[in-house]
Amino acid sequence: MTPPPSDPAAPPVTGAALAARIRAGELTAVAATQRALAQLDALNPALNCFIDTFPDQSLARAATIDKARADGAPLGPLAGVPIALKDNMCLSWGRTTCASKMLADYRSPYTLTAGQRLIDAGAIIVGKANMDEFAMGSSGESSFFGPTRNPLDHSRVPGGSSSGSAAAVAADIVPVALGSDTGGSIRQPAGLSGVVGMKPTYGRVSRYGLVAYASSLDQIGPLARTVEDCALILETICGVDPADGTTADLPAPSLLATLNDPIDRPVIGVPKQAHDPHNHPGVVNALGDAIDAFVRMGARIVEVDLAHVAHGIAAYYLVASAEASSNLARFDGVRYGHRATLQPGDELLDLYCKSRAEGFGPEVQRRIMLGTYALSSGYADAYYNTALKVRRLIRRDYDSAFAPNDRMGTPACDAILMPSSPSPAFKLGEKTSDPLAMYLEDVYTVTVNLAGLPAITLPGTPTTVDGVSLPVGMQLIGRAFDEPRLLRIARMLELAGGNRP
Ligand code: GLN
Repeated sequence: MTPPPSDPAAPPVTGAALAARIRAGELTAVAATQRALAQLDALNPALNCFIDTFPDQSLARAATIDKARADGAPLGPLAGVPIALKDNMCLSWGRTTCASKMLADYRSPYTLTAGQRLIDAGAIIVGKANMDEFAMGSSGESSFFGPTRNPLDHSRVPGGSSSGSAAAVAADIVPVALGSDTGGSIRQPAGLSGVVGMKPTYGRVSRYGLVAYASSLDQIGPLARTVEDCALILETICGVDPADGTTADLPAPSLLATLNDPIDRPVIGVPKQAHDPHNHPGVVNALGDAIDAFVRMGARIVEVDLAHVAHGIAAYYLVASAEASSNLARFDGVRYGHRATLQPGDELLDLYCKSRAEGFGPEVQRRIMLGTYALSSGYADAYYNTALKVRRLIRRDYDSAFAPNDRMGTPACDAILMPSSPSPAFKLGEKTSDPLAMYLEDVYTVTVNLAGLPAITLPGTPTTVDGVSLPVGMQLIGRAFDEPRLLRIARMLELAGGNRP
């Protein structure tokens, strides 16, 4: 079967539009899948955004959808829509590598809940997306399978850790992808790659089948080209799951039905801390433009004080590394993962040490050591327990912003606006030798995970760097479990910004 040549002039089609065309019989699921696979073949050699692809299986599944349509069977809301999954998500076929040598040959016996819900809705999983090893990173460069490149400028990173998911959507290989966000890994790459990315409230989406990084922070969410597609995917994957005790037992919200109802005079909080002097001028400009856009829509802009955000990076890297050191203990060459070849005289401890030293890359080893140290007896109070206290203060800052302040006479915010990163996409290799510089990339995203809130990044006004136009991500943060309101406000900004569809 020869895939049709992709037309580079054709505007990218959204998942919602693709599903509608397939339902209407204007396009077959097979043709939509062939197009995704052709794009993938053409672009992946340069971008390296996929670790594994499933061409035959995808086409076979697409054919069953076309047959179901021909037979008059009901089609799911995502029938025939090609999608990519970050490679820390378990599927009962193919490999689940977490972009690590440790799991380079790992095959999961089961499929993650969020993925199964997409499959049940008719989506076609064309492949597993590249990522930072074990989701630790902000650039996509720590993958055992090599870095992913930013489709808009191949000399730059797409952001991370959901690097391949962001690049695959930005390059128009797939309209939508799933990523995971522990400290910004959906929103930051979405911002650097010019797409929309959403981290739902902690507890909104099941993590069953997501390889755990930091369990009190991890969430799964969509990357797409529009707010509508994010709503479509989130509506499909969210809701309680008996297999994940952290999912909230709340009725699944209806997101699409209200998406286009603007909120009258929304109150938008802009943190003092968002005007950081270290922000790139393009980020300063995009934030100003987003504020202006809200003012033109009749929004009330209020200044909010997220006083403890300054300690966000320190608290996050302690909590996340501590949890990672515990979660990753299972990769020991016995229970899971790469097993080293032993030499005569080696003992059990050598097996553990050698397997872990060979299987984990340098950034993962650094996190495990940091986390183990922060939790160790005699140090836990100074580091881990202090980080938990800071986490509570950060939550409190957000709680006050979302509550009316009678003393200051300020109303409760409907959403908080800030950039998703302090700078646009940086060059490959620019920060790899300076872990702290890399960690500072996450300054605007990590506190949202520490507070468990939902947030969405969408493209703001781009900026020109070295003659290349680069995207700048703007982030909106909402109240816990109020994704409907957050998405409506994001949709307002999307329309005001004149973004694609
Ligand atoms: N960059 C952050 C980290 O390395 C966030 C990663 C993520 O959200 N998975 O921990």
